[in-house]
This record gives sequence, structure tokens and C-alpha cells, in this order.
Amino acid sequence: MVNSDIVICLFFDFYIAQPAGKFPGRFYSNPTQNIMDQKVNIFDTTLRDGEQVPGCGLNKKEKVIIAKALEKLGVDVIEAGFPISSPGDFESVTAIADSVSDPTVCALSRAVEKDIECAAEALTKAKKPRIHTGLGTSDQHIFTKLRSTREKVLERGVAAVKLAKKYVEDVEFYAEDAGRTDNEYLATIIEAVIAAGATVVNIPDTTGYCLPEEYGQKIKYLVDNVKGIDRVTISTHCHNDLGLATANSIAGVQNGARQIECTINGCGERAGNTSLEEVVMIMRKHRWLPFTTGIQTRQLFPISRLVSETMGMPVQPNKAIVGANAFAHSSGIHQDGVIKNRENYEIIDPHEVGVDESSIVLTARSGRAALNFRIEKLGVEIPDSEKDAVYAKFLELADRIKLVQDDDLKELLQTHLQPSI
Ligand SMILES: [Zn+2]
Repeated sequence: MVNSDIVICLFFDFYIAQPAGKFPGRFYSNPTQNIMDQKVNIFDTTLRDGEQVPGCGLNKKEKVIIAKALEKLGVDVIEAGFPISSPGDFESVTAIADSVSDPTVCALSRAVEKDIECAAEALTKAKKPRIHTGLGTSDQHIFTKLRSTREKVLERGVAAVKLAKKYVEDVEFYAEDAGRTDNEYLATIIEAVIAAGATVVNIPDTTGYCLPEEYGQKIKYLVDNVKGIDRVTISTHCHNDLGLATANSIAGVQNGARQIECTINGCGERAGNTSLEEVVMIMRKHRWLPFTTGIQTRQLFPISRLVSETMGMPVQPNKAIVGANAFAHSSGIHQDGVIKNRENYEIIDPHEVGVDESSIVLTARSGRAALNFRIEKLGVEIPDSEKDAVYAKFLELADRIKLVQDDDLKELLQTHLQPSI
């Protein structure tokens, strides 16, 4: 079995820059995919990279529940685990392979013979199996982690792909720390693994180091310089150490990538992975981008909460798309605007992502429009002559308790208006 020191995090980098439409659908490994298709495959790695959050490990039963929810969400690929890492992870991959039908089920391995054989065995029951294998390609990883040479790393990568290919048709190669890998060498090794049979090439910004333009240019460099790149799918795999994982992933897609590796809630070790919900909604809301996904967006909020509760990892309240405050308005000016027309301050209809409705939060920053809105929601009518006095009482209360809930408001109204309600 494998030690904790092989917990793997993939690194990529790529980048944006070119207007969408520059690449009229050249980048596919799936021969059934229409050449003009701009579909971006969503590769969810919540159960592999995401689960590496310290203290948030999942058992087999929990992983199967989340895998089924991911299938309902419409992801294209589920990375189910790293089978050689432990007997429990092997069993989880096996159980997931047997539990879902539509998505490809992917298992991670190092470029090591026993890892690849173990991954293949765990995927035996998968209807659409994929082995994900690779190794570090940056000089940092080659010289100080692998203690090897560029030539030997290339040979290992090619050998790993050829071995995986004996077991499954669909083989993804990852160039760990591609974000810090010299582009010329990266192109050389990517061309070699494509010739060896890789169907997907993963360009990880493992350390979350790249700027979006830099990452996009890296993808474009591969598109322009690698023989055979038009026969495979280029994948992004970005980490969020500098808060750029989402931006880098979109930059990669704009420059030719057609798979994004991501996790629910952006979970993952350190600062986490690219957030699935963020990249999906960016491509959905920016209609000028020609990209589509198969994601059922109304499942985004429910699966966010499922993953959060199962992992015991709270979602930060201001998290984009799925945070508790993502559709909550508390300042008086914003509340007045949203009550008049939701689109004054919201670019996403909360129903689109499975949230019931926007919320008007009552604090000392709230105005009369918000207070009256919430009072009406309670089904209470107050005479116009009382409204100033009720508002003044409300501000006193809000200064004292910070957040005024429905029960607080009812008590205030009962006290002030008794016995009229
Ligand atoms: Zn990673």
C-alpha cells in the first residue's frame, strides 16, 4: 500500500486570452463527438482530490451516495479514488464502478506498474472505465522529488500509458506540476504520450501558481505545437492557492481545453480545487461563450449541501453560487433595488441553482422597504401611522442583536401593536 507521502495533487496551468470561437471545436478524444461541438466535459474529482481535505475523509457508503448524486448532476467523469492508496479506497472505487452507469469512472495511479494494475482491477465493473496515470514534469519535481532526469520521466510516462492501454481504451495522462513545467519539454512529453495511446492529456497547475493568461498560453502552446493534439481532449486541473483556480480553468477552455477537473464547493487540500459550480455557471451566464456542459444546474445547491454535510466541512457563507449569503441582501440600497427588480443586484436566478429564493436579511443596515417587505411576508398589516415608530423600534433591536429573524420581528410587532395582531 502507499504511504501518505504519495497523496497526489495534480498541477496544471493554462490560459485564456483568445476570444471564444477561435477554436472551432478541434479538441476531442471522443470520436462520436461532433467536430463543431463546444461541449466542455466536467470531470469531478470530489471523491479523489477533493476528499484529501484533512479530517474530511469519506467511507465507501458515503462515496457511493455522493457518486450517485454526481451522476444525477450530470457530470461526465467521476474520479472515484486512488485504488493503490488503501484497501478502503480500492473498495470504494469498485463500489462506485458498480453503482453508476452514465459517467465515465476514473481511477488515479502513479506511473508505477502496481498502481496501474490495481486501478485496472478496481475498474473491472465500470461501464466506461478510465485510468488516470502520470508523474511530475517540472524540473522542480523531476530533480527534487523524483530525483530523475527529463529523459527518464518521458520514458516512464510513455511506459505508464502503454501499460494502462492494455487494460482500458480510455487513458488520461497527467503532467503533474505542468504549471511550472517548461513549455517546450511539456509539449515533447505530451506528444509522446499521445503517440503511446493517451486519449486525454491533463495539464495541472498543481501548486495554483499560474496567472490566467500564463495558463491559457500554455494550453495554446500545446495546441499549436503538439502533433496529434487534435485527436485528444485537453484537460485543466487547477488549484486555488492564489484564488485563481476558476479563472485559470476558464482560460484553459478558451484556449482549447475541453475538460475541466473540479470539485463540489471547491473542496480539496490546501486552498482547494476549482469549484465545479463556479465554472459551470460562468459558461452558462456568459452567453457569448460558446461552451456548454451537461450539468443540471438545479442540483448544484443540493449537492453542495450533501458534500458539505457528509464531509463535515462547512461552506463559507460568501462562497460564490452556493454560499448561504450568495442570494442574501442586507444593505438598504440593495434591498430596495432587489424588491423592485431582482436583476438589479442578482445575475443568477436562485432557482437556476436550486435555491428557493433570494433572501432579504434584516440588520441595522436595512431600510424601510426591506422591513415592510418582511412584515408583509409574515402576513401582518400595520397602519401607515405606525410605520415610523415600528422602524425606529426595529433599528434599536437590530443594533442590539445584529440579525433580526422572523421570530424577533413577530415579537417586536406583537409588543408594539398589541392587541392588533
Ligand atoms: Zn490536484
